[in-house]
This record gives sequence, C-alpha cells and structure tokens, in this order.
Amino acid sequence: MNGVAPGRAARLTVRGVVRRFGGIAAVDGVDLVAPPGRITALIGPNGAGKSTLFDCLSGTARPDEGRVLLGGRDITRLPEHVRARLGLARTFQRIAVFPTLTVAENVRVGAERAGGGGSRGSFGYERDGLRTERALALLGLTAVAERPAAGLPTGTLRMLELARALAGAPRVLLLDEPSVGLDAAETVRLAAVLRALAADGLALLLVEHDTELVAELADAVYAMAAGRVVACGPAARVLADPRVGLTWGVAADDG
Ligand code: ADP
Ligand code: MG
Repeated sequence: MNGVAPGRAARLTVRGVVRRFGGIAAVDGVDLVAPPGRITALIGPNGAGKSTLFDCLSGTARPDEGRVLLGGRDITRLPEHVRARLGLARTFQRIAVFPTLTVAENVRVGAERAGGGGSRGSFGYERDGLRTERALALLGLTAVAERPAAGLPTGTLRMLELARALAGAPRVLLLDEPSVGLDAAETVRLAAVLRALAADGLALLLVEHDTELVAELADAVYAMAAGRVVACGPAARVLADPRVGLTWGVAADDG
C-alpha cells in the first residue's frame, strides 16, 4: 500500500446510460464495468461521447436513461459531492485547478472534499494533511508544493489534478485524457502511478488517446463511436478490431 488508496475496493457499473443534448444522444445506451484492481480504458474518436459519459458517472450531468452503480449502490441520482464522498474521483480533460492557490492547497481541497463528511476534529485535519503530503510525494510534486498553481507547466498541472483526486482517497478514479501535455518522462511516471494504484485495489477508468499507453496499461478496453460501445475486451483485441478503426488515433486533438 502506498497509503493514498484505502482498502475499500469498489466496482463501477454502468447500465444502459443515455445522455441527450437536444434530440441527439451523445451517449446512447452504454454498458460498462470498471472492476477494482484493474485499469479500464475508454477510447474513441472526438465526439464519441467519452467526456459526456464521464460527466454522467461523476455527477456533473444526469443521464436521461440508465443507471450508475458504485460498489452495488445506485448513485445515478446522487449529486457530485456525495459521489465524491462515496469514493468516486475524477480529473478533467481541460485542467481545472485554483490558480491562486498553491499546489499543496489545491491538493488539500481534494483531501477535504472527500475526507470527513461527518464530524471532523483536529485528527481529521491531520489525516487530510497526511493524505495531501502522500499524494504530493507520489506525483513528484513535493518540490513545487508551495508554488502557486498559476504559471506551472501543463505536465505539472496534470500531476496536480491527479494528486488532488488521490488525496480524497477514492475507490474509483476517472481520468479524462491524463497524458495530454505530458512529456515522455512524465508519461512514464503517470503509467507507474496508475499501475501502483490499480495494484492497491482502485478501479481506474481512463479516457486515453495514446494507444501505446492504452496497450501498455489497460486490462480491458471499451471503444466508443457515436455514443455507443462498438468493441470491448482485452487491449490487444480491441485495438486491432476493424470496427474501432484506429485512423482517428493520430488525429486526436480534442477540445
Ligand atoms: P468525446 O469526449 O468522446 O470527444 P464528448 O462527450 O465531448 O465526446 O461529445 C459527444 C457529443 O456530444 C459531441 O457531438 C458533442 O458536440 C456533444 N456535446 C457535448 N457536450 C455538449 C453540450 N454541453 N451541449 C451540446 N452538445 C454537447
Ligand atoms: Mg472528451
């Protein structure tokens, strides 16, 4: 155990989720399972519905149909902060940090978000502090802990987002394109951290365009297109599936 991930394994289950904008289904009946201790990848071209699905899972958006279960509990109608407290954390495709807060303060926000819930004595704060420190160390951010987030390079901000998510001691972690903007060394670090988290029992679900990283990391891959899952299974099989048509892989430049 690295001390960041607690021993409370939970499975994320998605059943028949539909999310419409106007008359159009951006997510059109998705079934998916992200088991504890595994890295599950979600791939697909721009506009396939990956981020919209993540919004439905984290609570940023409500599905129009279908159900989302966390460790068997139906969380479909629960607000985002309650899901966070139950152990669901996410990072965003567009980096979202508090620019005037320091790196450590940003991470502490994550620790406090999920940390207490009920009564919180000084012990609770100490635990938050410890989790913050561990998350900073795990992501190699200790040296920049007291710097304001504003002006830090993209790679550092990506690590900061991940540290903030981990500081909340999640059971399920949703990562939307975590490798975008990372250099080669940072990508290696990211891969190592994600593997360690899965080994600790976390359920990881990541949207990722880097097919090499997907092939290297993912225990299972779901490929989406036009709101639907068009293929799922072991990485090697899905990445080679003609229905997945990896022509989009090189043109991936999402907004
Ligand atoms: P991906 O993350 O796979 O690139 P998105 O989930 O961002 O795909 O988008 C899926 C589809 O839903 C796209 O056609 C996109 O234009 C549309 N969409 C996403 N968010 C909104 C929104 N807030 N309002 C209207 N349409 C949206
Ligand atoms: Mg997206």
